[in-house]
Amino acid sequence: MKKACVIGHPVAHSLSPTLHFHWLKQYQIEGQYDARDISPEQLKRGIHQLVAEGYCGFNVTIPHKETILNLLDKVDDLARQIGAVNTVVIEDGRLRGTNTDAFGFSENLRAHFSQASLAADPYQTPVVLGAGGAARAIIKALSDAKAKVIYVVARDTAKAAPLKSLADNIEIHAWERLSQILPKASLLINTTPLGMEGKEAASMDLNGLPKEAVVTDIVYTPLLTPLLKEAQRRGHFVVDGLGMLIYQAIPGFKVWFQQEPKLTWQDFQQLKQLLVQP
Ligand code: NAP
Repeated sequence: MKKACVIGHPVAHSLSPTLHFHWLKQYQIEGQYDARDISPEQLKRGIHQLVAEGYCGFNVTIPHKETILNLLDKVDDLARQIGAVNTVVIEDGRLRGTNTDAFGFSENLRAHFSQASLAADPYQTPVVLGAGGAARAIIKALSDAKAKVIYVVARDTAKAAPLKSLADNIEIHAWERLSQILPKASLLINTTPLGMEGKEAASMDLNGLPKEAVVTDIVYTPLLTPLLKEAQRRGHFVVDGLGMLIYQAIPGFKVWFQQEPKLTWQDFQQLKQLLVQP
């Protein structure tokens, strides 16, 4: 039986087991996908244990996405550029890492845009809030989508500066300048934890954001974050972050279980329902 899992610390809250179990059942695959809590101190030992137990791979979540890079036999160019690994394949005892967050982000937007008729190309001039690991993956996706300028708005611009190596059309601005940047946005993306359940809401004034700008949040608890609520109230097309989680899981499932999950819009909606159930 093929076995995969998600590793993190903590990891009990992860929706990945529900997601993969759903596909295993749907495609009648005799497989297993569980969650394994591995502390940072135990990471090296923990992943070797997975190899010893015959796992064919695993997803990686907080806090291991960056630190695991040095513990793998191979890391592909994309994951190296992003500086984070979220999917590992084990073959003949060797660990190969990649990053599927950029794919998950783009596919989530593609799925939503296929259901809408948008007045303008949302990828022209995106504005990214935050400059962490997820922002790096998203910037790769935006660059691949041929964004003309990618605006990054961060509270610490010096810390965000290395992002410039990801594409040659990135502008980095301080959070205080957001009101000047918003009028340029074709797409506004929150990649900070602001708005997450139990965290402070993104307090921002969306005045100045062009009417046709799309607004998306990669935080998905709650599904409709305060930012998305406000954007929806103002009439913007909004995309929540749960789809990114769903789509980033597809490449891993495909390689571990030799079956690519295919999602119609209806399957996608049903899967979202399943994942948000208490
Ligand atoms: P990260 O590497 O810690 O980056 C977080 C970024 O947000 C950093 O730039 C940080 O700035 C900034 N930030 C944090 N608090 C802020 C505040 N109060 N005001 C302004 N900026 C703030 O985290 P990550 O891995 O990128 O993840 C970010 C969020 O995305 C998490 O909530 C995560 O759960 C979610 N996520 C969702 C998906 C999905 O599939 N939907 C995938 C990946 C991540 P500093 O560097 O200055 O601290």
